[in-house]
Amino acid sequence: PHGERLDLPEAHDELRALAAEFNGLLSRQEDVSERLRRFTGDAAHELRSPVASIRVQAEVAVANPDPELAQETLADILAESERLSALLDGLLTLARSDAGEVPPAEPVELVTEARAAIARLPPGSPSARVSGVAGRSWAHAAPAEVELILNNLLRNACRYARAQIVVSVLASKATVRVVVDDDGPGIAPEHRDLVFDRFYRVADDRARTSGGTGLGLAMVSEAVRRRGGHVTVGESPEGGARFVVVWRKATGEPG
Ligand code: ADP
Repeated sequence: PHGERLDLPEAHDELRALAAEFNGLLSRQEDVSERLRRFTGDAAHELRSPVASIRVQAEVAVANPDPELAQETLADILAESERLSALLDGLLTLARSDAGEVPPAEPVELVTEARAAIARLPPGSPSARVSGVAGRSWAHAAPAEVELILNNLLRNACRYARAQIVVSVLASKATVRVVVDDDGPGIAPEHRDLVFDRFYRVADDRARTSGGTGLGLAMVSEAVRRRGGHVTVGESPEGGARFVVVWRKATGEPG
């Protein structure tokens, strides 16, 4: 029995494995706190600019009783308040996701969701359609997640498309995917991984006061990754952006 218990090489291996696991845990923990620190700093920075702008404009309005100027100032204040609300909504959504508050998954039919998302686009948007649908495709997701994902991708596509947006729903053996193509300027390869980072916006878009928050694609990425799926961006046949969202197929799919 003595010989059996003192199997030293094996004990060493186990210790080494344990140490490796511990170190892995430690560095993951460091990654998480570093990311959290950066996120808090970035969020404060992003919230600061609309708040500062609102304050300056209100000060101007108070100091200057010209009613015409006041109208202009109020419109600016309204626009900045809307930006602030969008930022706070995005931050809240991400905070809930970080805290593991995730809606329960159920089979979600993507063709229906894609059509509904297109129907929600504001009047005057570029033409958008669902193309090449063969049958129905059920994703392992939550309806609210799919809605958030499609809304964000379509809203972005509308902002950049010249004339048209095409949404395709495709199924393979184990996965279902939604492809959103636009015919806008596209996203240069060096930005393609980064656009999914929180607050990341391509330089030109930062300068532009397009009202974006830089949180949309980060929310999209979170919402699909927590279901074991993923999202990527490439180039559409028209040279615009092509976003591809892949989910696991819902098991025991209805219909
Ligand atoms: P934003 O609120 O700025 O739209 P997103 O996270 O949705 O934030 O997008 C991040 C950045 O990715 C955008 O600022 C823009 O530069 C770029 N982007 C997103 N969608 C497209 C698209 N369809 N075509 C070109 N650029 C895009």
